[in-house]
Amino acid sequence: MTAASKAELFRLLPAIDELLRCEEVQTLSQRFGHTATVEASRQLIDDLRRKITDDSLDEATVKAAIDRLPEAIEQRLQGSVAYSLRPVINATGVLLHTNLGRAPLSQAALQHVTEIAQSYSNIEFDLSTGERGKRDVHVSRLFAKLLNTDDREVSTIVVNNNAAAVLLTLNALAEDGDVIVSRGELVEIGGSFRIPDVMAKSGAVLREVGTTNRTRISDYDRAIGERTKLILRVHRSNFQIVGFTEQPSLEELVALGRKHKIPVVEDLGSGELFDLRQARVSGEPMISGSVRAGVNVVTYSGDKLLGGPQAGLISGDADLVAKIRSNPLFRAVRVDKMFYAALEATLLAYIREDYDSIPTLRMMRVTEEDLQHRAEHIARHLGISSPHLEIDVVATHSVLGGGSAPGATLPSRALAVHSGDLSPEELMRGLRQYEMPIIARLEDDRVLLDLRTVEPGLDATIIAALESLSH
Ligand SMILES: *Cc1c(COP(=O)(O)O)cnc(C)c1O
Repeated sequence: MTAASKAELFRLLPAIDELLRCEEVQTLSQRFGHTATVEASRQLIDDLRRKITDDSLDEATVKAAIDRLPEAIEQRLQGSVAYSLRPVINATGVLLHTNLGRAPLSQAALQHVTEIAQSYSNIEFDLSTGERGKRDVHVSRLFAKLLNTDDREVSTIVVNNNAAAVLLTLNALAEDGDVIVSRGELVEIGGSFRIPDVMAKSGAVLREVGTTNRTRISDYDRAIGERTKLILRVHRSNFQIVGFTEQPSLEELVALGRKHKIPVVEDLGSGELFDLRQARVSGEPMISGSVRAGVNVVTYSGDKLLGGPQAGLISGDADLVAKIRSNPLFRAVRVDKMFYAALEATLLAYIREDYDSIPTLRMMRVTEEDLQHRAEHIARHLGISSPHLEIDVVATHSVLGGGSAPGATLPSRALAVHSGDLSPEELMRGLRQYEMPIIARLEDDRVLLDLRTVEPGLDATIIAALESLSH
């Protein structure tokens, strides 16, 4: 094509003002805002100009593209004003998947959040005296009940996440002093939470004792000196040390701390209020166990096994917790009323022992028979509707994830999907790009959809997504 005819094609392109005056685009401007509409129009005309320059478009093609401009502008605007944060179906079998938002909230938590967030509330207002109150009261009273601490006054405060809880606790109780930690507990929790680094930022000095696999109570005892402010125990949330190992019990640490008048702090990682042995998971410590053993302060996450919102909880001796709360950092890492609402509702479910209302606990307790039944139903349905897909029901294992109970798995059932037309990667991508994105797991070149982490109400969506990929 000659340069002259390209120039002619350029002349066909409407000016931005002209485009914006047309009625369809005017309507878009009212719906999506003037600025966004101008931007989308300009981008589309630029695209077209580039295509004329690079490709040999004929006049008919250019005219057709110009006629379709309002429609294209609408599509682009819909894309740019759509939410980026979207719900997805977690078919990975990882219950607390940090990249997928960890614990889903209960219906009661959502209702309470809506009610509290859309109106004014007594978040820091004492309704009986009419004076300023403290936001802690809303959940501290519930933790006191749940941690079953009749013989001890335990208070709880809430911060942004457990990383903040550890940082704040170390800064408030041990700045410029030594904190004794076993070399077997200098953990990294992913996303740059490393105990030595957090310690450095807190202003406390890490005093390592013992070895990677064995630390004795005498190692702690020998390390205690003038500058010692705390003994820290860190839960090995995401790894295990097996073989020739030794670690003092919490009771021994507490006794040593008492002897020297040094508080014992424990970073539990995933705090647990529900005895997971009921779901056949062992090795994950309960918050109440640490409190009962006499640990002075424990920190844990709200959105791991607790099944609530993202939060860091600090529970312990009232005087120490008060000291932590009066630290200026507390104000920097405190949380909004929505978190208190979600947490309060979640804790009330524990008090009522209504465990099935908390999605994480419900998923953990679903039986293999239930999962088998659902999987067979889906496979049967697709066997009829989608002959191009081969679906097998396979036994697999779900994991807790999110830095809890390393090595603990739950027997589960998955749909193993095989397509004659699509590679496993293409299947995975197709599922991710479905209107309700589905995140599956690739294992031995098979696409697995683990049903333990999928709410039964979403089975129909999984069927529809697989049907859409098989045509
Ligand atoms: C998960 C975890 C943390 C970090 O908790 P977040 O709530 O993710 O900030 C800290 N310590 C331990 C031992 C953990 O398992």
